Amino acid sequence: MSAQLDLPGMPRRLFSATPSKLATFADCPRRYRFAYVERPVPPKGPPWAHNTVGSAVHAALRSWWDLPIERRTPAAARQLLYSGWSQTGFRDAEQAERWRARAAGWITDYVEGLDPADEPVGTERTVGATTERLALSGRVDRIDQRGNELVIVDYKTGRSVSTDDEARGSPALAAYVLGVRRTLRRPCNRVELHHLPSGTIAAFEHTERSLANHVRRAEDIAHDITTATEALAAGADVDAAFPPVPGRQCSWCDFRPSCPTGQAAAPAREPWSFLPEDEDGNPA
Ligand code: SF4
Repeated sequence: MSAQLDLPGMPRRLFSATPSKLATFADCPRRYRFAYVERPVPPKGPPWAHNTVGSAVHAALRSWWDLPIERRTPAAARQLLYSGWSQTGFRDAEQAERWRARAAGWITDYVEGLDPADEPVGTERTVGATTERLALSGRVDRIDQRGNELVIVDYKTGRSVSTDDEARGSPALAAYVLGVRRTLRRPCNRVELHHLPSGTIAAFEHTERSLANHVRRAEDIAHDITTATEALAAGADVDAAFPPVPGRQCSWCDFRPSCPTGQAAAPAREPWSFLPEDEDGNPA
């Protein structure tokens, strides 16, 4: 990324960002530097098994909605999950197989609660919106039509049950609301987190005020990124412009192999260690 000055009389350049890009800088500017500034991108650690689980579930659900209505059955969802499964990040084939069965159970239960004829307005749809300083974009897992409004649906597969507070506080979900409003030009306020392992839904109805708060925070981060980028271009020390923020997150940071500060801050974790398992290794 290169720093560019706004010239008098010219429209201000918008900072292009996804929610994930902004979150990366907010969490650790050095991680942002590794991901978005340094080229070539520094070496990353191995892929995580829990990400494999999440990706497989998301892909299967997207493909399920692509099927003709009469073929949108729980068995089809299970089959899609099985056919798209990968062993990436798991300890061994046996562990991967146990988690495939577990995820198949989640997805089967989940689609049993869906109406196959209730066609979503979009699945994995990219939407975008602009604010005074930002061009925000993101990809929404599912956009539903409920009455006259569109609803953001985000699938979750992590160990923690999603909460309404999480739905309210998620910068990504707020960005999706703005993006859906702008891209699809229809009312949109409600965001939902569908947690498949527990079969629960957390939700929040955004207001203009709650969205404005999210926009303000996003613009503040974008401002900080621009300041750091300009400082680096002006010759500042790279670690002063993009300082490391060591902490627990260094255990699962993808750039840990390239970051001595993170290696000293927290122990390494096995790629499958975020899968909740009981003492016998069964999904908990
Ligand atoms: S390992 Fe920690 S300090 Fe290093 S880039 Fe990642 S989050 Fe930042």
